[in-house]
Amino acid sequence: KKINLGIVFGGQSGEHEVSRASACNVIEVIDKEKYDITLIGITKDGDWKVYTGDYKNIKDGSWEQDTDKIHADFSIFHDPIIQDVDVFFPVLHGPMGEDGTIQGLFELMNKPYVGCGVLASAAGMDKVASKMLFESAGIPVGPYVYFKRKDWEKDPDSIIDDIAGRGFPVFIKPSNMGSSVGISKAHNKEEFIDGVNEALRYDNKIVVEGFLNAREIECAVLEENGEIKAAIPGEVVASKEFYDYEAKYSDDQDSKIVIPAQISDALLEKIREYAIKAFEVIDGSSLSRVDFFVTRATYNIYINEINTMPGFTNISMYPKMWENMGISYAELVEKLIQGASVKRVNN
Ligand code: ATP
Ligand code: MG
Ligand code: MG
Ligand code: MG
Repeated sequence: KKINLGIVFGGQSGEHEVSRASACNVIEVIDKEKYDITLIGITKDGDWKVYTGDYKNIKDGSWEQDTDKIHADFSIFHDPIIQDVDVFFPVLHGPMGEDGTIQGLFELMNKPYVGCGVLASAAGMDKVASKMLFESAGIPVGPYVYFKRKDWEKDPDSIIDDIAGRGFPVFIKPSNMGSSVGISKAHNKEEFIDGVNEALRYDNKIVVEGFLNAREIECAVLEENGEIKAAIPGEVVASKEFYDYEAKYSDDQDSKIVIPAQISDALLEKIREYAIKAFEVIDGSSLSRVDFFVTRATYNIYINEINTMPGFTNISMYPKMWENMGISYAELVEKLIQGASVKRVNN
C-alpha cells in the first residue's frame, strides 16, 4: 500500500505565495509509485481545502477557482480524507505554519510530520525569543532592542530617543515573520516611525537591530537518523540595498546565491558549528536554515536568525546547499519525509 502524504500549502501568512511555489516543486519530485498525495491548501483567510485537481495550478493560486475539484467546509479532526493522511509535509512559511501552531495540530492528531516540533518552530519564528536562546548558547548576536505595541502606544518618544541615542541606521522587524515582510531600514527618526508602523501591521512585538555592514552567509542544517549535519554555507548577494521581498522573489531582480560562500575555511567551519548549536538550542529537528552576518571589515560572525521551514523551491538556498553536498532536491525531499515524526513522547 502506498503512503498517503499530505502536502499542506498556502497559509495565512505574508509568505502564502512563496509557500505555493515551494509546494509545487516538492510535489514535482515526489515518487508517485511510493506515495499517494493529498493536497491540502490553506487560503489566506485560513480555510482548509482539499484539492484533487492538477497540482500545477497551485503555483499561481488558480487552484482556488477550480471549485469542482475542491472539498471544503470539513472538520479537520473528523474528515476521513484528512484522517487518512499518514504523514504531513507542511510546506508553509511564516506565522500559522512555521511557528508551531500547525505543528501543535499534528501533535494532537498524533500524525508524523516533516519539520521542527512545536517549541523549535515557535522559538525559531520569534526573533526575540530565538536571539535570547542563541545568546544563552554563546552564539554572537548583534545589538538589538525590542518592544511591544502597547509600549509604543504609551510612549513612542522614549523609544524613538533610545534608538536615536544608539545611532542609525537600524533594521525594524516584526518579531514573527519571514521573507522580509514588514522589515525596513531606517536612517533617521521619521523613517523609524514609518518602519515601526509598517512592522506593527504584522506583529505586536517589534525588534530593532543595529545595521551591520556585513555579508550574508546561510547554513543548511539537516537531521538524518538522529544525526545533525550542517552543509557548507552559501552566500546571498542582494540586488538591492537589502535582501527584501522583491530582491528575494522577483524574476527581474538579479540577487545571487554563491555556494560555497567565498570566505575562509575557518569562517565556514565556525559558521557550521554555530548553525548546529543554534539548531540544538531551539530544540530543532528535521531541518532549518540558519542565517548569519559576517562583517565586511572585521570578519566578525553574528547570527541573524533561524528559519525552521526555509524557502524550498528547487532554486532556493536550502536545497542548493545540499545539492552542493551531493544530495539532489528529490533525495532531500525523500529524506525529510522518511525522517518525519511525532515529536511528543506519549504515555
Ligand atoms: P527570511 O526570508 O530569511 O525568513 P526574514 O523576514 O526573517 O527573512 P531577516 O533575515 O531577519 O528577515 O532580514 C531580512 C534581510 O534584511 C536580511 O537578509 C538582510 O539583507 C537585511 N538585514 C536584516 N537585519 C539586518 C541587520 N541587522 N544589518 C544589516 N542587514 C540586515
Ligand atoms: Mg526568517
Ligand atoms: Mg523565513
Ligand atoms: Mg533571513
